[in-house]
Amino acid sequence: MKVRVASHLGMCFGVRDAIDLAMGLTQRGPVTILGDLVHNPDVVAQVDAAGAIRVRQVDEVATRTVLLTAHGTADRVKLQLRLAGHEVHDATCPLVHRAHLALARLVAEGYYPVVIGQAGHVEVRGLVGDLEDCTIILEDADIDRLVERFGTGFQNNQRVKLGLVSQTTQPLERVLELVEQVRQRLPDAEVRFLDTVCQPTKDRQASLRELAQACEVVVVVGGPDSNNSRKLTELARQLGCRAYQVAGAGELKPEWFAGVESVGLTAGTSTPDRVIDEVRLWLEALNSCATSVPA
Ligand code: SF4
Repeated sequence: MKVRVASHLGMCFGVRDAIDLAMGLTQRGPVTILGDLVHNPDVVAQVDAAGAIRVRQVDEVATRTVLLTAHGTADRVKLQLRLAGHEVHDATCPLVHRAHLALARLVAEGYYPVVIGQAGHVEVRGLVGDLEDCTIILEDADIDRLVERFGTGFQNNQRVKLGLVSQTTQPLERVLELVEQVRQRLPDAEVRFLDTVCQPTKDRQASLRELAQACEVVVVVGGPDSNNSRKLTELARQLGCRAYQVAGAGELKPEWFAGVESVGLTAGTSTPDRVIDEVRLWLEALNSCATSVPA
């Protein structure tokens, strides 16, 4: 069985920087992280082991120093923490910050904000957390809510202005499909889309497309809560591969690879190199003839 490794996979700069910041803070003294630093169980365990306290709610923060996660946080939450006397450190990825700025710019220019993303995901909660009103869409049917509210996109003798951005880890192809559907279903609206899908997500999706051409099975290494890992798994299946998402080598099962000649390996943006290597070595050890080749 050949093990083919995606040309772009694994941890992105935003996650690496967040881990460095967290580990540095734990060496200085007690620190509380508001949520999971990133969506990978190994990374969360590493930061927990270094002494960081993890809480879900602002009112649970009991240390002076608090760290906000890579997924971004609403300004009102930051203000709440500062007013409570906390020293706030922010691990928000610059590309998430860019999405916040894009959305704020659209709102400032009079566009009604529409976010393409998973409602309830921490990044999306941060994106919309300072808005009085907005609509989050992910499925085709979600556009019904825009149509119910704005009709064809012409109200009070003027075109409705809809400003769209995306959660950074959504697949660009799907995002563009949804933007097009909004344009078609509200043909009289002025629809402005700012592409906020991050480059590491685009790179990993593109290299998976190449990988899938040469593989029957794809293994995606990523935590169960990692949106971009889940999207890689979905894409591999759409491309006709059998795909398995695992958090680590311990979840792999030999029977998945019975009779398989070529398996592809990719990983989400929060997966540590060590975990990817363990999965690769497990796959290579599955039969003694195994070889790893670039995708
Ligand atoms: S996946 Fe993209 S937005 Fe998220 S931390 Fe990595 S680079 Fe930043």
